[in-house]
Amino acid sequence: MNTIELDNQYVMGTYARFPVVFARGRGCFVYDTEGREYLDCIAGLAVNGLGHCHPKVVEAICRQAGVLMHTSNLYHTLPQPKLAKLLVEASGMSKAFFANSGAEANECAIKIARKAAKASGHPEKTEIITAELSFHGRTLATITATGQPKYSEPFAPLPPDFKYVPFNDVEALRRTAGPKTCAILLEPVLGESGVYPATSEFLSTARKLCDEYGAALILDEVQTGLGRTGKLFGFQHYDVVPDMITLAKTLANGFPAGACLARGAWGDVLVPGDHGSTFGGNPLACAAAIACVTEIIEGGWVDNSREVGAYFAERLRTLPGIKEVRAMGLMIGADLAEPNARQVVMEALGKGLVLNATGDHTLRFVPPLIITRELVDKAIGIMSYEL
Ligand code: PLP
Repeated sequence: MNTIELDNQYVMGTYARFPVVFARGRGCFVYDTEGREYLDCIAGLAVNGLGHCHPKVVEAICRQAGVLMHTSNLYHTLPQPKLAKLLVEASGMSKAFFANSGAEANECAIKIARKAAKASGHPEKTEIITAELSFHGRTLATITATGQPKYSEPFAPLPPDFKYVPFNDVEALRRTAGPKTCAILLEPVLGESGVYPATSEFLSTARKLCDEYGAALILDEVQTGLGRTGKLFGFQHYDVVPDMITLAKTLANGFPAGACLARGAWGDVLVPGDHGSTFGGNPLACAAAIACVTEIIEGGWVDNSREVGAYFAERLRTLPGIKEVRAMGLMIGADLAEPNARQVVMEALGKGLVLNATGDHTLRFVPPLIITRELVDKAIGIMSYEL
């Protein structure tokens, strides 16, 4: 049996995979089992910020793997507080909890908001407001937080007290928030739904409402965090400071890792026994994340994301089949004139370009933060045949 047959027979069919088997990667390129080269404009769905097999991350993983991989969170280990300090100082938050994925990072933030409300003597304060078309993960709480019923309905009954407002609808947010609100959970830029940045007014209204009702403003920076939008964190584009930020994706450049960062008293809500994770924050994941985050900050890759992202968006706007381009750094959504995004993705794959469609009309580009203008030109050259 070949790899695809093995996959089909033994792996649960939760993914509609493309008919390609990737065998290795280097920088902005991946290679299939036949040795064909592909320019990667997805970066593992906004994960490989430093590209594939970045030498500093590989070195950190190999070194740590030979020293200590895992001990459980019953004990102190060296890399975890070091990573916490790095993230806390870079974000202006106060404390970190480490998980293994974006969904788990969001679960932690949700638990903090719910517990803080109860602990303040308000057991009725349980509501969490999120946006329609958002995406927050696949656990039961996070599919419920995700404002897209198609992900949650098959799994009902769902955790109660999630409320939804149309993204960027300030009036709906004002109408929905109240004394029962314990958190507003938002992406600074809707990612899975095709790259729609929040307006300043929407985020600052969320901030004001959280202050008014003593609720937590949680920004899901799982996709926007760590340089993707041309700033280290997406919230830094806005005049808003969140109470919690969640991270995953680029955090360890492909090694599974997630984090919930919390500011001030929010960082002290959870006490021993409240929350935990067997693997979360283990030495191997943290060593990979320290190497990755340090390189993103010190290597100038946030600036590269902003500059090359603007160039990529500008080149996309010149393609005839593209109607609208929305971009923040290297998080770019392009709406096509025709509903043929999936076909464009298939054809591009055949020509050595890995792209992503978030719907029939929309392509999403989240390439490695290290991509160059020359590689953008190469991608545009390939797409010129399709569009
Ligand atoms: N939040 C956002 C904004 C995401 O884009 C994603 C994944 O795409 C998640 C949460 C879930 O992350 P994970 O798949 O690591 O659980």
